[in-house]
Amino acid sequence: MNIAAYSTWVEIDLNAIQNNIRLISRVSGRPVMAVVKGNAYGHGMVEVARSALAAGATWCAVARIEEALQLREAGVNCPLLVLGYTAPVMAVDAARHNIRLTVYEMDITRQYARIVSAAGLTLKVHVKVDTGMSRLGLLPVQVADFITQISSERGLQIEGLFTHFARADQPQEPYTDFQIEQFSELVSRLEKEGIRPPVVHAANSAGSLRYPAAGFDLVRGGIAIYGLHPSDDAPLTNEFMPALSWKTRLVSIKTIPAGQGVSYCHRYRAKTAEKIGVIPVGYADGLRRVLGNKMLISEQFVPVLGSVCMDQCMISLENIPEAKLGDEVVIIGTQGHAARTAEQLGAEWGTINYEVTCGIAHRVPRVFIGL
Ligand SMILES: *Cc1c(COP(=O)(O)O)cnc(C)c1O
Repeated sequence: MNIAAYSTWVEIDLNAIQNNIRLISRVSGRPVMAVVKGNAYGHGMVEVARSALAAGATWCAVARIEEALQLREAGVNCPLLVLGYTAPVMAVDAARHNIRLTVYEMDITRQYARIVSAAGLTLKVHVKVDTGMSRLGLLPVQVADFITQISSERGLQIEGLFTHFARADQPQEPYTDFQIEQFSELVSRLEKEGIRPPVVHAANSAGSLRYPAAGFDLVRGGIAIYGLHPSDDAPLTNEFMPALSWKTRLVSIKTIPAGQGVSYCHRYRAKTAEKIGVIPVGYADGLRRVLGNKMLISEQFVPVLGSVCMDQCMISLENIPEAKLGDEVVIIGTQGHAARTAEQLGAEWGTINYEVTCGIAHRVPRVFIGL
């Protein structure tokens, strides 16, 4: 199907993804692990993974084993790491598809070992270290023992060691340096003991672009591969290109009488006779049901009137005399000289760009352009 068939759709510029992968690789001077969890932050996991690999990324990472298996099913055969928890019952599937799992609890790790060795398989694992995120991970002091103990388990191959930054996207502050120091000391200690895993990694996008000392053996690029800013305090250079646009079209135009309310509960009411448009995008698509949404039509910002419905909402066409049926309406992206960014939408919704693009519903078709 082409775009003409859709009510609302997302366009992903795969050229932008490739451009951004090359930039991260150039700036960090390291191989890039493309982080494509969460349907590639809403961009379409399989296509983004393929493009990233074609542009030189050497690894992919996801959050869940289901995502990893989906990539394998689509024929993506690169080294692939699951960053989050994996249920022991899935360890055989992981081993069979050469998917690397993250380990951080002895009990779960031993279950993996028992299950995969019983199946005559070997599972590659990456040991997660908590240097200050307080999410998954062993404390640095526990790591050497942990590695020594699991080395004697049949069925496991310790391939990697990694940590994750909590504050790399904040204005220069010492905490990331502290995390890097903790992690570097640990890596040196493991080296001395002859138990340093071959693939050591730490940096997320902000870390890879702002902290040269965080490079280690590879960098994990997430938000920056999509051309989205890690934060206001850690903006990308303008060489990066945002890959995602979210669009819909005008499907009805009319003038409602003065005093008539708009949408459920009439949270907006026309003061005079008012020209409005209906667009087929709603909260089931990920457009938040808050007052004050804005969209681009004819290169101008117009307000959404009243409540966003599940599948539709209404916009003001008072200042758009030229509006006609079928006109493109932009929720995120550019229209002529006007631009609406995921960052702006995030700020207005009281959240971050990550949550905005991850929140675009699965039912919204992704259309891939640019290659
Ligand atoms: C999501 C994630 C990343 C990518 O982070 P960005 O800020 O999007 O670059 C890297 N590492 C881990 C462990 C993650 O969970």
